[in-house]
Amino acid sequence: MHSPTLILLAALLTALVTTVLYAVWSFNKNIPGLRLWVLSFLLGSVFSVSLLVRDWVPQVVAVVISQSAVSLAAYLCLMASRMYMGRRPFSHIYAVVGIGVVVASSVYFTVVQPHLGMRFVFAGLGAGICFLLTAHTLADGGARRVPARYLFAMVVGLHGLFLLLRPVLFKLGTVAPGGLPDASLASRVSQFVVLESIVAVVLLGFGALILANEFITSELRHLAEVDPLTNVFNRRAFLTLLDKAISAAQRTKTDVPVLVIDLDHFKNINDTWGHGAGDDVLRHFVMLAHRCLRKEDGMGRLGGEEFAIFLPNASAGGALAVAERLRALVETQPAVTGQRPIPLTVSVGVTLCAHADSAGAALKRADEAMYLAKERGRNRVEVSEQPGGAPAAPVATAA
Ligand code: GH3
Ligand code: MG
Ligand code: MG
Repeated sequence: MHSPTLILLAALLTALVTTVLYAVWSFNKNIPGLRLWVLSFLLGSVFSVSLLVRDWVPQVVAVVISQSAVSLAAYLCLMASRMYMGRRPFSHIYAVVGIGVVVASSVYFTVVQPHLGMRFVFAGLGAGICFLLTAHTLADGGARRVPARYLFAMVVGLHGLFLLLRPVLFKLGTVAPGGLPDASLASRVSQFVVLESIVAVVLLGFGALILANEFITSELRHLAEVDPLTNVFNRRAFLTLLDKAISAAQRTKTDVPVLVIDLDHFKNINDTWGHGAGDDVLRHFVMLAHRCLRKEDGMGRLGGEEFAIFLPNASAGGALAVAERLRALVETQPAVTGQRPIPLTVSVGVTLCAHADSAGAALKRADEAMYLAKERGRNRVEVSEQPGGAPAAPVATAA
């Protein structure tokens, strides 16, 4: 195919991808980095247009526009990926210096000492490094959990590698076996380069779209599973996780201890200090609970001021120790909201999920134990009957 036709195709495709990404961004402005990806593709369009019009403008102008556009596009792609991953942006001084070097060297090898090969070396260097760094930034979080990031990382990494190796391709591909420059070979190599950039633009466009989709999906999952006030799992998500933990424990023939915790006289806190202070107390309790838990433990808000915790790798004794530690911690660490500390206590019920036990049944038993703690004076830990029917061991603790 004729090179100008290919460049025109590249320009149209880049403009199309930019428009699609812009439309997605305008409906989802909270997707981190998407605005910068739109700008990056826009600069890609500027680059394609600068190639199209290069015969009608002074060569040095075309070179400055095309090299600035491509380097800035690659830098924005890197910034977008850092933003998407929640990383801090680089100091822009690196970009200014980097792009300055690329543009200055391109002008030097166009006007002062014309050398196409050296121009390719510098042009590919800046953009290639930015794309490789983008791949390195995105390949994080586990390929099974976040496959979209790895897919994008692979495409952008391969494109970066191609840009870095492009001068070698020109060196090898433009010289005939006899050692003389071969114009038809050179034209085929430049067609291949344009074709590669068309494929890269389309794949990177899809990549940005599936990253946007990944972000929206995880946001929706978060909204569906997490309690917005305390940032722990809601009742439904907690029950699902507990069911999974029980199934895993059945395979290893172990039990999963479950705790149900209810804040004592919480209505009084709301009545005395106001609903806002009550919310602060709920968050304070969750913060204290996290101090007593390990990474693999799960916590959920069952509703109101009632919470539940499962401890997959704890024994019955270990679970009781955690429950008692939490009770004592809450009692000794009042919530500080506004001016004065608000004293707080909790009642805790503990049970063991044995084999063939359901999450709902275990939670009911722990709930009954928690109500027993209320009956026996609050600020206590009580253990439920075992699923087999054995009575609870007299291990309840009181303040
Ligand atoms: P007990 O010791 O028997 O558990 O008494 P209690 O006052 O803690 O229990 P009760 O069920 O009488 O009151 C619970 C209160 O929790 C009533 C409700 O208004 C309040 N509550 C429920 N959800 C929230 C919330 O999200 N924020 C605040 N601030 N209060 C809440
Ligand atoms: Mg209560
Ligand atoms: Mg309650």
